[in-house]
Amino acid sequence: MLEQHGLLAGLNQPQQEAVTTTEGPVLILAGPGSGKTRVITHRIAYLVQHEHISPWRIMAVTFTNKAAREMRDRMETLVGINESKEMMVGTFHAICARVLRSEADHLAPMGLSRSFVIMDTDDQQTLIKQAIKELNLDEKQYRPYAMQSMISQAKNNMQNPDQMAEQANKYVEEVAARIYKVYQKTMRKNNSVDFDDLIMLTEQLWRREPEVLKHYQRRWHYLHVDEFQDCNLPQYKLIRLLGYGTDSEHEGKGNVCVVGDDDQMIYTWRGASAENVLRFERDFPETRIILLEQNYRSTQNILDAAQGVVKRNTLRKNKKLWTEQGIGEKITVHEAYNEEQEGLYTAQEISRLLARGEIERRSDVAVMYRTNAQSRALEEQFLRMNIPYKVIGSRKFYDRKEIKDMLAYMRLLANPNDDLSLRRVINVPNRKIGPKTLGELQQWADMRSSSLYAALNTIEDHPTLGKAAKSALASFHKLITDLSGAIDELHLPELLDRIAERSGYGPELRAASENEGLDRWGNVLELRRVAEDYGEIETRTAMELFLENVALVGGADTVQSGEDGTLMSEENTDAVTLITLHAAKGLEYPVVFIVGMDEGSLPHSRSVDKPEQVEEERRLAYVGFTRAMKRLYLVRARRRSVFGETRYTEPSRFLEDIDKRLIGKKGGQSTQNTQKSYGSSTGYNMGRGNSTYARPQENWEDDFNQDPYGETGGRVFGRGSGTARTSSPSHDYTSLPSAPR
Ligand code: ATP
Ligand code: MG
Repeated sequence: MLEQHGLLAGLNQPQQEAVTTTEGPVLILAGPGSGKTRVITHRIAYLVQHEHISPWRIMAVTFTNKAAREMRDRMETLVGINESKEMMVGTFHAICARVLRSEADHLAPMGLSRSFVIMDTDDQQTLIKQAIKELNLDEKQYRPYAMQSMISQAKNNMQNPDQMAEQANKYVEEVAARIYKVYQKTMRKNNSVDFDDLIMLTEQLWRREPEVLKHYQRRWHYLHVDEFQDCNLPQYKLIRLLGYGTDSEHEGKGNVCVVGDDDQMIYTWRGASAENVLRFERDFPETRIILLEQNYRSTQNILDAAQGVVKRNTLRKNKKLWTEQGIGEKITVHEAYNEEQEGLYTAQEISRLLARGEIERRSDVAVMYRTNAQSRALEEQFLRMNIPYKVIGSRKFYDRKEIKDMLAYMRLLANPNDDLSLRRVINVPNRKIGPKTLGELQQWADMRSSSLYAALNTIEDHPTLGKAAKSALASFHKLITDLSGAIDELHLPELLDRIAERSGYGPELRAASENEGLDRWGNVLELRRVAEDYGEIETRTAMELFLENVALVGGADTVQSGEDGTLMSEENTDAVTLITLHAAKGLEYPVVFIVGMDEGSLPHSRSVDKPEQVEEERRLAYVGFTRAMKRLYLVRARRRSVFGETRYTEPSRFLEDIDKRLIGKKGGQSTQNTQKSYGSSTGYNMGRGNSTYARPQENWEDDFNQDPYGETGGRVFGRGSGTARTSSPSHDYTSLPSAPR
């Protein structure tokens, strides 16, 4: 019977054991590609088809929405659409949101109603800033992003504001606890929660209300958790409550199957800890431990290269991993001249693979990187070479807020009557010009039939506006006037520096990036790099060309993006995936490129001084390598430029850890010019191109699953020293202005 379904036939012995051990706790610790996720899907199908368990009793927790969707798709094929609909398959956040919304009675004491709103990072920032202000604290001293991250950490340690204050070791933690308190209060007043709250509140609810917990224990009898190694404490506690019970009442069914790989733990910064495995074994007595040792995904060469990197970690258990996929192709290591060439090489190599028929579809390829900002150079080359791509887990470069803001400043300088751009930046960064003041300004402009900018000129004469508002508006007016004046003095890249610094936006973003917010400053630096291509043209013309190019991009009509940033054209474009290493967890592709294999990029510059963080970077590289099924390319750039300065990079230490015999000689075809290669002999094309960009969309939860550096501080040489250096055009031949389309 079973074989007919192919449910067990497609599984090896230990996998079958994992699938058929449906009662009691099961812990599967096994390497990448060993079928852990497959075991979960087959186990669920087995429960439904063989054990006749109602799908309604089954829950599976995945790490991203994308993974949840994939699992659901698998279940539809295995057990049918209707059955699979009844299952609870989702991320911790999605499941908790669902639980909380159905407990309206219990939400009231928590200060919430069932229509509560889940805030995104920007909303959170606004509230944190508000809290800082309310407490009469100085934002410069207590950076909103740093505070947000400390509060999130406290929540991950399951501390409320008072507990956080009690356990504070440093003064800044005490302050953060005070901010936490106000933040939490305002959030509740607004009937909203943040991501961490979803987990915390559900845990609290189940812990404090035995009847509610029992209700869910009675419903979900079979629990599954994928990527268990990256659970944090509150998430673990949820599983324990549901599967086992509280300290006093053990009413959980105990049928909990968790799968994970400690070598792939890449979220310790969000509270993941290897201790959860020990906790699990302790909390769930008589846990059946199953090891899977056969890898079905990758070739031996890929596995060996990955092992070479991860085995240098000290805090790990060695696991066996073997494959029947054969030795396979050697690993290609390519050293490009600079970032552009890195992108170009990648794009060209993908074209070659397609042309040679080595891959059938573009979707067979993923390009991975450490930080989001790294997608820019890639996107540019892909667009130039007309290779459709999708960016997973983050907005496309030109749709990122800070890029839009900087461009709005530039547009405003190019055309002061551009009201839309003025509105976008008049209060960015915060200049205390609120909607009310803006409304008055608009009226003032309407009365004169003038633009907002022109109206600012006479704002002193406004009869009702307060003094503070007037002076805020006047100084914004002066800012724009001064910056406009600078157009005649500065080249485009320096003009961008001036905008960033004089507007106060640069300092704010740097602080943000430094303190773990988003990778916003890194993105602005990327934008500046694009501007460098126009550095030798007369600035007004340069500005026009630059903005025109960017606008063309935005209007790209063939490509739109759907959920997860997936590009969709009419014929549902077959596209290459661009993705951060973090977001790539659990996925697999026939061909994987990892770019930025440099010291400072991977391992990230912020981690290099801390051994335990280098271990995490190593695991991240390991995750990346092991996504590849057939071919793995490791690409790096010998130099990268930041603020007009070119810096040389060292190859990533992880490259050194790969046995040289695994590395192939040839990494692609030389096109022209000088070359140097690392373990390969390839060249690169020095051409430069236009950039056009497609509009993206964002998936909040996958975005949330980025690491702080992935989102942040990002780039190799990341931030400038705080003051923008103006570059003496230290041009190399790559900085020639590119001809606009
Ligand atoms: P990761 O740790 O990266 O998440 P994993 O352990 O979850 O990896 P899966 O993604 O479940 O591994 O499996 C890797 C690949 O191997 C998948 O394509 C899966 O379908 C295939 N696979 C797993 N087990 C078998 C098997 N017994 N026979 C054939 N293919 C298998
Ligand atoms: Mg998996």
